[in-house]
Amino acid sequence: MSLKTRFLGIVTLLIVIAAAASWVAYQQLSEGIIERWGKQVAEIQVRYDSARLLQSLEREIGLARQMAQSSAIIQWAKNPGNDNASKAAINQMESFRNNFRGKSYFVALSSNGHYYYNNADNEYAGNQFRYVLDPNNPDDAWFYQLVNEGRDFHLNVNPDHELGVTMLWIDVLMRDDNNRILGMVGTGLNLDDFLENVVDLRQEGITTLFVDDSGAIQLYRDRNYIDFASIIKPKDSRNTIDLLFQAPQDKQKILGMLQMLKKRTDENSPIESGFVTVNGKKHLAGVAFLPAIGWFEITLLDLDTLLPTSFLWPLIAVFLASLFVTLIVFHQIIQSRILKPVMSLEKGVQRLQDGRFDLPYLAKPDNEIGRLVDHFEKMTTALRDTTHNLESKVAQRTEELHQLARIDALTGLNNRRGLDEAIASSIHKSQREGTGFGLIWLDIDYFKIINDTQGHQAGDEILRNVALCLETSVRPYDHLGRWGGDEFVVLLSPCDEQILEHIARRVRVCVERESAYTGYPVTVSIGGYFCQPGDSLDTILHNADKALYIAKKQGRNRACIHTANGEEIHTV
Ligand code: GH3
Ligand code: MG
Repeated sequence: MSLKTRFLGIVTLLIVIAAAASWVAYQQLSEGIIERWGKQVAEIQVRYDSARLLQSLEREIGLARQMAQSSAIIQWAKNPGNDNASKAAINQMESFRNNFRGKSYFVALSSNGHYYYNNADNEYAGNQFRYVLDPNNPDDAWFYQLVNEGRDFHLNVNPDHELGVTMLWIDVLMRDDNNRILGMVGTGLNLDDFLENVVDLRQEGITTLFVDDSGAIQLYRDRNYIDFASIIKPKDSRNTIDLLFQAPQDKQKILGMLQMLKKRTDENSPIESGFVTVNGKKHLAGVAFLPAIGWFEITLLDLDTLLPTSFLWPLIAVFLASLFVTLIVFHQIIQSRILKPVMSLEKGVQRLQDGRFDLPYLAKPDNEIGRLVDHFEKMTTALRDTTHNLESKVAQRTEELHQLARIDALTGLNNRRGLDEAIASSIHKSQREGTGFGLIWLDIDYFKIINDTQGHQAGDEILRNVALCLETSVRPYDHLGRWGGDEFVVLLSPCDEQILEHIARRVRVCVERESAYTGYPVTVSIGGYFCQPGDSLDTILHNADKALYIAKKQGRNRACIHTANGEEIHTV
């Protein structure tokens, strides 16, 4: 796996781990925030919903109480048979009807069970007496129940089959001065209008319901859940909050809140709240007690609707975008600051391994890698200089050795090897150019005796002197060499027979003359041969040797030249 892949993998892993940790922390934090926020919202909502209900009922309840205290109606209730009293009472009732919001009222008398009613359409004008209540009729049970309980005030949600209306009835007991119950008065609010205007405001995610102290549902947006005429039903057959909360612990929780709130009526509008599950969704329930009407208000906040998880999508999008951007930026940094320099360094090292010192362009970031690359460049330069230095030294030394291998140590002239090469090159040149060249073979006379009598050192000195004579006698472009022992060879090129003879003579004379100054006479015998194009080395050496032999034989200290045709040797 490449360094880049590894780096990016590690960074991704770290970011994901950090994100997961942040997510868990966020979840915990957000749950705490949602809980606190939700409770506050629930409290505000409960107060708002309660206030809305009470506001719309308070005036009606107040009017109903006034109606129950109306002297005209009370007088008539005491004496229902009195026509005048009846008229006055009905006038009074009608005047209340005009004030009630629902433009309706009812009056039920205990003494004769007569029930009076008129509605917004003034449908029963002059005919307000509707029917007689029957203690045995379940529809009329509410009246007898309230009278029996002596409840001065009651809100009753009840369909009136006789009148064909479903109303939220405000019931207020009417008593005489002796506190004796005369009947009941009140007004009704159209349930559907009330539900629509007060209970179900269609706020998304917010559900409001009102229950009595037994938990029976009094007002709820779905009429099917409403427990009509709760007061006359046995407790276990009422529509209670059991219908809404499936989990037993939730029911317990809500009922617990109701009891707690009822006990704490002394406090200023306390609110209870807690999490419950409704239709499988988590809700926050806020509960308040409304002492004015004896009901509880329950507000359910659907947290999924109010705080939908979709609001997290931007957060996730931001996270993914930042992850993406981080990876790109990190990739760029790794690429430019580490990988590129390392890769170019690798190329440089490879080139150096191949023995090349011309490094390619190496990226040098301002970090450890840049410094490493810098050191590498400097090291390469030093290595190049040292190598070049060594190479030139080796070349120089090789050249020196080459020279040394062809130089005679005693005289400084070419040795046998040097002479061989020079003769071979002259043969080639002669063949190439079709011109001859001269070769002189020189041998010191009686050198053995010189050695024996004068010593080996003196012999060496004489050899050096002969070499000097040769050097002074030949031209700068001729080749000189010591063949070995007391023998020397001179190559003359360009040359002709006259030059050959001339130089041979000059050499011999020089040795003889110069030795006179040393105190010991030395002479040389010379065999010369003018080489022809096409002559082999053997032929040349043989002919020169032959001439030398003649020179020795004729008495030494002379030069014999082998003529061009090779037949004649003459002394010069
Ligand atoms: P000839 O006149 O016939 O040439 O007589 P010669 O005594 O010179 O005989 P030759 O040329 O055969 O002798 C060569 C002698 O040179 C033999 C040897 O001792 C001597 N010699 C060879 N190399 C050296 C050297 O490097 N130094 C000295 N001092 N003597 C050498
Ligand atoms: Mg000799």
